[in-house]
Amino acid sequence: MHEAPTLDQIQRAPKVLLHDHLDGGLRPATVLELAEQTGYDELPESDVAGMATWFAAAGAGSLEEYLRRFSHTVGVMQTADAISRVAAECAEDLAADGVVYAEVRYAPELSTQGGLSLEAVVEAILDGFRSGTARAAQAGRRIRMGLLLCAMRQETRAMEIAELVVRYRDSGVVGFDIAGPEAGFPPTRFLDSFEYLRRANCHFTIHAGEGFGLPSIWEAIQWCGAARLGHGVRIVDDIDVAEDGTAKLGRLASFVRDRRIPLEMCPTSNVHTGTVGSLAEHPIGLLRRLYFRVTVNTDNRLISQTSMTEEFGRLADEFGYDFDDMQWFTVNAMKSAFIPFDQRLALINEVIKPGYAALRSETLFGPVARLNGQSTSGMAGTTSHDHAKGEIQ
Ligand SMILES: [Zn+2]
Repeated sequence: MHEAPTLDQIQRAPKVLLHDHLDGGLRPATVLELAEQTGYDELPESDVAGMATWFAAAGAGSLEEYLRRFSHTVGVMQTADAISRVAAECAEDLAADGVVYAEVRYAPELSTQGGLSLEAVVEAILDGFRSGTARAAQAGRRIRMGLLLCAMRQETRAMEIAELVVRYRDSGVVGFDIAGPEAGFPPTRFLDSFEYLRRANCHFTIHAGEGFGLPSIWEAIQWCGAARLGHGVRIVDDIDVAEDGTAKLGRLASFVRDRRIPLEMCPTSNVHTGTVGSLAEHPIGLLRRLYFRVTVNTDNRLISQTSMTEEFGRLADEFGYDFDDMQWFTVNAMKSAFIPFDQRLALINEVIKPGYAALRSETLFGPVARLNGQSTSGMAGTTSHDHAKGEIQ
């Protein structure tokens, strides 16, 4: 058993992020500046501290209250320049947080209020990812970014978005998702889009089992063919845990575990939306113990005031997770990414495993090894370029 990792070590550890919304992770100062530049005059506050507090969803308590906060981030993301800036800062912020691979998602239809086409929105994001990745590299941090395109469940543009996924799949778009309210908008509503993507050999994940229970998860997997589940926390409704801790899995929970279907869990966000009562009650503890393919994610960094480092720090405090657990979650996420298998493997073997090995030796051998650990950890941040060269990194 290793010592508990410090926040500084967690920050330096290589991390992989599969579930993060572009419009949920803006810098508060950027929201204000973009509002001024784009003539958006609906912001409820006029200074950075005020905006940061307003966005903080700690007391939101419901998904609706949580989602209300997005009107202003989306409000300032209506020009190509604004969208590119947000995407570039996203890549930079994630790299600074020690994320080595990220799939960030956005619904392009949200940014068409000012007349932008869906294509222009996608291209602005990919542009931003390129420049943010380049700026991070200049600062000595290597990150590879992939884009997931979301369709909004309450709207009707899913097929158009699915077609964009196919069109941009060699330019940095790695998959598809549906987002928005789960209750009343089941995944099967978009069955034709999912079938189209399957025929085109495209990857997709589906938000399911957050605001709604097992039927949503079942439809996402067994009707639509989702490769991963966004959240999926309610899968615990299909697991009975006896007083002695032994667990009995129902057929759906068994299927999800046996087929190694990745769960994109977002612990802090789930507490803020009221999906779970507290971090201590979060099913991630049970699901990790039962060896579901669990991954750790941020969901909305601005609105949940979180980061990958924060998420792992809170989980380490609550569940006693150490570097072995962190590496397990991280390798799970990398295995579940939507980029080609050889590239996933290269990141696991050349970046993730060496990064954790360095952190472990630092903890075991103290300050002398710590110097080595830092240089090795620095190396971990710079070895990913070979396989990321020439792509949206
Ligand atoms: Zn989400």
